[in-house]
Amino acid sequence: MEKVTGKGHRLLLMPLPFQGHITPLLHLGDILYSKGFSITIIHTSFNSPDPSTHPHFTFLPIHESLSESEASSIDSLHLVDLINVRIIQPLKECLDKLMRSKEETVSCFIADAVLHSTQSVCDGFKLRRLVLRTGGATSFVVFASIPLLRENGYFPIQESRLEEPVVELPPLKVKDLPKIETRDPEAFYEFVVQFVEECKASSGVIWNSFEELESSALAKLRQLFSIPIYPIGPFHKHFPEGSTSSSLLTPDTSCISWLDTQEHNSVVYVSFGSIASITKAEFLEIAWGLANSMQPFLWVVRPGLIRGSEWLEPLPSRFMENLGGRGYIVKWAPQEQVLAHVAVGAFWTHNGWNSTLESICEGVPMICSPCFADQKVNAKYVSDVWRVGVKLENKLDREEIEKTIRKVMVGDEGKEIKDNVLDLKEKAKISLKEGGSSYSSLDGLVTDILSLKS
Ligand code: UDP
Repeated sequence: MEKVTGKGHRLLLMPLPFQGHITPLLHLGDILYSKGFSITIIHTSFNSPDPSTHPHFTFLPIHESLSESEASSIDSLHLVDLINVRIIQPLKECLDKLMRSKEETVSCFIADAVLHSTQSVCDGFKLRRLVLRTGGATSFVVFASIPLLRENGYFPIQESRLEEPVVELPPLKVKDLPKIETRDPEAFYEFVVQFVEECKASSGVIWNSFEELESSALAKLRQLFSIPIYPIGPFHKHFPEGSTSSSLLTPDTSCISWLDTQEHNSVVYVSFGSIASITKAEFLEIAWGLANSMQPFLWVVRPGLIRGSEWLEPLPSRFMENLGGRGYIVKWAPQEQVLAHVAVGAFWTHNGWNSTLESICEGVPMICSPCFADQKVNAKYVSDVWRVGVKLENKLDREEIEKTIRKVMVGDEGKEIKDNVLDLKEKAKISLKEGGSSYSSLDGLVTDILSLKS
């Protein structure tokens, strides 16, 4: 059978300008480029990706006039709201020029799901819009259930009900429901409802996930949505390791040489992603918990991770030196490479979706400290459903950290978790092979894009 190809068709892709969203969107661009499509990345000037990492794409900046200082003065929910508003006019101007061009057919626009305002802009040009959801399907089912949960009295989340089951969404408990730190928690749920609605209004949703991992959530979404659902992940495993990088910060590769000196499966890799922040007290509990665990550790302390500190100032003097080389701290790591390293035995993560998926793909057990949004749902599934990690319950406490690290790194539970994660790693691999679920879903996506009429 002749392969379907996107040759002669241009796709416009637009990321939400944060690391955990830019990376999967550029990966999606690479995947569709490999199917013959020409790729244009329309992006904000704020947190703009580096075009030199993808010379085969066209990059078109729009000028939404959002400054770094303005962005850092508001919380993430207000920032995302502001981005949605500010992009409307410059995006219209950009599309106006592109749609007039007679040289190439623009087949469709693929936007990050969070950029919900792009739906009405695309409608104005009669341009079909597909959506990329960079989070998991399971957490999206929870997002899509917010109106029902609200009706049934779960919000605002009450401290006294945290251990109660969410009967509409087993096995979740109230404490696993999405939440973010903002002055107006209700505004978060309003926002989620809006972005779910604009996903439903799109021509289809692409997921960085695979059928075997989230089959029940994907089945539920197929019931709830009348549009196609395309789980074609894990995106980063469509290509050989390290083929492209889309890091906004420069990864410190010296940690790989340090990992080379460590024993197999011995190192705890610690990173809470690109956005989460912690207090000084939490930072010190983590530091002592790691030190007392006696396991070697590689720790990403991003500038900005510790509220009110530039970088490592809260650490007691000579803390690292006193560990005699057992710990290594970097500002930003080449994470995929780190997780693939034989020395890494566990990943202590905030359970951002990319980190969760990257850990599964390398067969690395997780220690879960979810912070906000979908992360609590991801952590619940990691620990209780897929059983590929354990949750650090309660607040960050050095003794509990030490105990949990031991549980994962040594002992029977740790072994069972390792077996489970290796099994999922294998399933992820198979899903991308010819005839596999993600492979077939991608074929369907390509065929559908070619049949979309703008
Ligand atoms: N990441 C990285 N180096 C680091 C920490 C994180 O390259 O030191 C990457 C990681 O591989 C992942 C992304 O940053 O692809 C973080 O995305 P995730 O969804 O896990 O969390 P977010 O940053 O969106 O909270």
